Amino acid sequence: MSSAPNPPQFPPRPTSLAWSLLREVIRKGDTVIDATAGNGHDTVFLAECVGPSGKVLAFDVQAAAILASSKRVAEQGHEKVVHFHLCSHDRMGEFAAPSSISAIMFNLGYLPGEDHQITTRTSETLKALEAAEFLLTKGGCLSIVCYPGHEAGAEEAQGVGHWLSNKTNNGWRVANYSMLGTLRPAPFLLMARKE
Ligand code: SAM
Repeated sequence: MSSAPNPPQFPPRPTSLAWSLLREVIRKGDTVIDATAGNGHDTVFLAECVGPSGKVLAFDVQAAAILASSKRVAEQGHEKVVHFHLCSHDRMGEFAAPSSISAIMFNLGYLPGEDHQITTRTSETLKALEAAEFLLTKGGCLSIVCYPGHEAGAEEAQGVGHWLSNKTNNGWRVANYSMLGTLRPAPFLLMARKE
């Protein structure tokens, strides 16, 4: 007798939820940004969304992350679509025109299995969000996965939440998708649309 297939994780992980929501927003031919390339899972997802006529700008401060993500991108045949930048995401404004980007993904924190000291930091993340606001089209979306389970991550999550809450006064639509009743603060997803 064959066993039943594994059911999908419920509730979905913040990273999977970000993909489901962004898939509805990104169109073929769009230009989008992966602000934290890491191992390239999100970069490949974005390249699939925009297709061969689109463009993905991918940022990371670690050469090892750029190497890992470019390998994954090439294995999936998306190397012509993705442009890697070995620099902090707070410089993203140097690489795209204002109001030209339909979606920007941030998956904060550090690379699992690598040096935990090389992590996103509140001050740079907030600068990058300022740049992101400038680059997003009207109707463009931000997805931000936050990791409040470690001290620096908790401070960063709070800073990002505060920054986005203020944007609701300027017409942005902002949502927070988080777990209830976990033993430790669990990763959560912030989604925002610039109206
Ligand atoms: N999105 C990735 C994936 O799909 O595999 C995972 C990203 S990982 C959780 C966070 C990444 O952010 C790390 O690779 C780290 O090097 C990178 N990072 C840290 N500070 C950064 C910064 N200022 N600018 C860009 N990337 C940064």
